[in-house]
Amino acid sequence: MRRRTFLRLAAGGAIAARWTPRGAAQTSRRTRIVLLGTAGGPTPKRGRAAPASVVVVDGVAYVVDCGNGVARQMVLAGVELTRLRHVFITHHHSDHNADFGTLVLLAWAAGLRTDVDTWGPPPLAHMTDLFFEMSAADIDVRVTDEGRAPLRPLVHAHELKEGGVVVKDERVVVRAAVVHHPMVPIAFAYRIDGPDRSVVFSGDTTRSDALVALARGADVLVHEVMFPDAYAAEAAGNARSIARHILESHTPVEDVGRIAQEAGVKTLVLSHFVPDNNADAERSWVPLARKHFKGEVVLGRDLLEV
Ligand SMILES: [Zn+2]
Ligand SMILES: [Zn+2]
Repeated sequence: MRRRTFLRLAAGGAIAARWTPRGAAQTSRRTRIVLLGTAGGPTPKRGRAAPASVVVVDGVAYVVDCGNGVARQMVLAGVELTRLRHVFITHHHSDHNADFGTLVLLAWAAGLRTDVDTWGPPPLAHMTDLFFEMSAADIDVRVTDEGRAPLRPLVHAHELKEGGVVVKDERVVVRAAVVHHPMVPIAFAYRIDGPDRSVVFSGDTTRSDALVALARGADVLVHEVMFPDAYAAEAAGNARSIARHILESHTPVEDVGRIAQEAGVKTLVLSHFVPDNNADAERSWVPLARKHFKGEVVLGRDLLEV
């Protein structure tokens, strides 16, 4: 296409849709659900980013978990960092919270000037204070040099100690449920009901009745998955092994299908894959999830819009 023709068509909006950023505005749905990172566990992975997701309703971003790299994943997904409004942390394992403060800081660097409310288990407020103390040198210089408004007054940390309604605004209702993820003192799953769709994020958990209740009738359930065969032998030989811990704190993928069926969700999205890069597990995720679930099963991947 010649440049002049392109400019004329673009001005008329005829080809605007083809020029939207990756992941953006490819759907007419008001409630967009984007997986930002789908790995599980604290170590960086080659093929998947650390756990994080974003729900965007009418251009407003609600982020669930802040694994390492969440800000860049949002940029890659075409979601402007300045759209950040709420952050929900499921639990304090580093794969879920390592970039909690960093996300807010980088959103501010990208031009954020509006309030951000953050929600999660204690000690979220103390962590927020410490993050600002750690980042004071950078923030103070930018306030002085670049004339930015201070960031601290924009960030409001709320500690959750029980389930229930977390946020209710003109776009969404967000609910939390306490799930079971030993040895973490308290871990949450979150449900976001938007104007046209509902989505539940399990966080990390073993099979949880509270999660089944939270997910009842939801359109989409994004659930962590674990492939137990990868750990059985090692766990049997050592009661205090990491393998044993993994078996006791995550949900076998076959059970995830049962949970989705019991909750009556329409679509099950598998995420937080434990272990990573295991050939037997990779072959088995979807078939095992489908074994007991009649709805749609989606193998999660980074930047997938569900
Ligand atoms: Zn995790
Ligand atoms: Zn965890």
